[in-house]
Amino acid sequence: MISQASALLKKHYGYDQFRPMQAEVIQCVIDKKDVVVLMPTGGGKSICFQIPALLLPGLCIVVSPLISLMKDQVDALNSNDIPAAYLNSSLSFKEEENIILQCLNGQIKLLYISPERMVQEMNRLLTRLPVRLFAIDEAHCISSWGHDFRPEYTQLKLLKENFPSIPVIALTATADKTTRRDIIKQLNLPNPEVFIASFNRPNLSLSVKSGIKPKERVKDIIEFIADRENEAGIIYCLSRQTTEKLRDALKAKGIKAGCYHAGLPSDERSKTQDDFINDKLQVVCATVAFGMGIDKSNVRWVIHFNLPKNIEGYYQEIGRAGRDGLNSDTILYYNIADLVMLTKFAQEGSLAKINLEKLRRMQQFAEADICRRKILLSYFGETPHENCGNCDVCENPRKHFDGTLLVQKALSAMMRMEEKVGTTMLIDVLRGSSKGELIEHGYNKIKTYGAGADLSFAAWEQYILQMLNLGLIEIAYDEGFTLKITESGKEVLYGKRQADLVQPQVKIAEPIERKAKRRKFAEQGDGNSLFEALRKLRKQIADKERLPAYIIFNDASLREMASEKPLTEEEMLAISGVGQLKFEKYGQEFLTVIHELCYGISAKLTKVNTVEETLILYKQNLSVDEIALKRNLSVTTIYSHIAQLYLKDDITSIENYVSLDEINSVKTALKAIGKIQKLKDVFDFLNAEINYFKIRLALAYIEKNGQFNIVDN
Ligand code: ADP
Ligand code: ZN
Repeated sequence: MISQASALLKKHYGYDQFRPMQAEVIQCVIDKKDVVVLMPTGGGKSICFQIPALLLPGLCIVVSPLISLMKDQVDALNSNDIPAAYLNSSLSFKEEENIILQCLNGQIKLLYISPERMVQEMNRLLTRLPVRLFAIDEAHCISSWGHDFRPEYTQLKLLKENFPSIPVIALTATADKTTRRDIIKQLNLPNPEVFIASFNRPNLSLSVKSGIKPKERVKDIIEFIADRENEAGIIYCLSRQTTEKLRDALKAKGIKAGCYHAGLPSDERSKTQDDFINDKLQVVCATVAFGMGIDKSNVRWVIHFNLPKNIEGYYQEIGRAGRDGLNSDTILYYNIADLVMLTKFAQEGSLAKINLEKLRRMQQFAEADICRRKILLSYFGETPHENCGNCDVCENPRKHFDGTLLVQKALSAMMRMEEKVGTTMLIDVLRGSSKGELIEHGYNKIKTYGAGADLSFAAWEQYILQMLNLGLIEIAYDEGFTLKITESGKEVLYGKRQADLVQPQVKIAEPIERKAKRRKFAEQGDGNSLFEALRKLRKQIADKERLPAYIIFNDASLREMASEKPLTEEEMLAISGVGQLKFEKYGQEFLTVIHELCYGISAKLTKVNTVEETLILYKQNLSVDEIALKRNLSVTTIYSHIAQLYLKDDITSIENYVSLDEINSVKTALKAIGKIQKLKDVFDFLNAEINYFKIRLALAYIEKNGQFNIVDN
């Protein structure tokens, strides 16, 4: 079964190997077991139910909460020659009727529907359809513990009651343990196999920059983007206002930036989203509301302009980068003002205790002086032994020192000001500033005034954050955010204890190695120009077909084309992400660009060679299957060779492969459609009843024989 699954993986998706866990999950589903899959964003969950859907007879119903995602997912499936459709409120009655009919006729393998609809149809449509598998995507929506609870999802527990014999596969990227347990309980699956993949995403670099004021962050970000021409990214901000200001600042520098938050009209929001997906916007400045509804695989970086509320949210948001597996960068900015604001929010809600605890863990992550990935993964219950080498701490190990004296200076200043000041005033006093308010209070007269003048504001802010984290001081949220000395702080102040501090990272430049790595990566291929040319072609095709560019081929595939420079069909099909149908639709165009740019020759030449190779085997009386096997090509490709050979009169008859009835149907379709752009037009017109290869053969027949002798049969 798994070898069959591997063949489908190659044929439809163009991938050579399953990712960790995919094959095991697929096997279980085929064995009709209920399965729960926990895998990080970008881990490859979709294939876990899409390939079983292809292997099983009948239909797979996919429950998915986001209408906006359904269309993209279905487009992506269709572009891989997998018949899929969706039912949701955006369709007309007629369109729905049509889809239901196709499902009944077995012409559709995957049907996406919303949870509401699923519940309504439980005793109606679903009982009529040949359903063999239920897939519940974003399964965490069923849990009120999760961050995205949807009441409609809770009704899904009725699935098992109503259809005890149909297997259920539930999938989520939620890493939170409570939610995980709750999902299994809520779905009422009697004895599910649970698969938990590692949540590690090694291709994401992790960096934290603390103590940088908002204005400087903007400068820093502009520099960062300048280094990443054409690379898409998302900047998450805490407030709506910040998203707008940031967008304006970026636009002023000529960066194509948009902004997205819940206060904008919905049409504006969807336009921003579409423009981002279609590479018309390079950057979106957004509140957390952005990203759920997009599946863009080539987001190359994610920045948090402010500290996120908790690690789950942070992890999910950075997870939107690098879904194609290519290296991507993430940066988190963080200072005391953010912490103060977030703590205030957390205290206000009904879940204050949990929220404060979660924020505290977030803060610990941000303040980490050991490998950040270790901290992140340990939060999700994994215990990696090695440092990751791809986070700012690994790349720039922190130096510890005895900071007792420094801490004493700060604490003593606080004491002398009767613990009535906040961070900014404390730092100003330590640095000997002559601001009006400081002088008015007479703080310039205390003994520690100016005692820390040798350090920058940012360095002091980082020390104070460390003191907070060490529990030496705390913020009195109910007393105007003034700083207070704790019991252990007093121990340091009175010399009973030492304070271990970490050297601050004032201006963290991107590590030279990473920069070099990225540059090398960007230049892969012919000094980058080949990649750009391929990208341009992809954009033209995407615009013509009205599909997002990454659905044509993702960045990883283009990168591989640019570095491997495939010459022939075989070589092109060996590129990860180039499946059979994709090759047929676009392969030749991409080959042409590669040929012209790299070898200065026309692609036609090699095309003839591969076709002639097929002819040689054909003349040895090998069957199509045998030729395909021998040449390690797909059957569809061999049929397309046969069509070409037939047109050139190298082969005289193709009636063995396509019946006259079928040729007639194609002819009817041709008449009705008029000029056809692509095989898919005919395929769709014929309700997917006739295979692509037969359509191709039929077209060759019609072209060669003229039209007249076909009609009446
Ligand atoms: P998830 O739903 O878990 O976030 P997806 O199913 O969207 O992830 O997959 C993420 C990306 O990884 C997609 O571009 C997908 O085509 C790709 N992918 C999935 N499985 C494989 C595989 N076995 N080999 C290569 N790429 C894969
Ligand atoms: Zn690390």
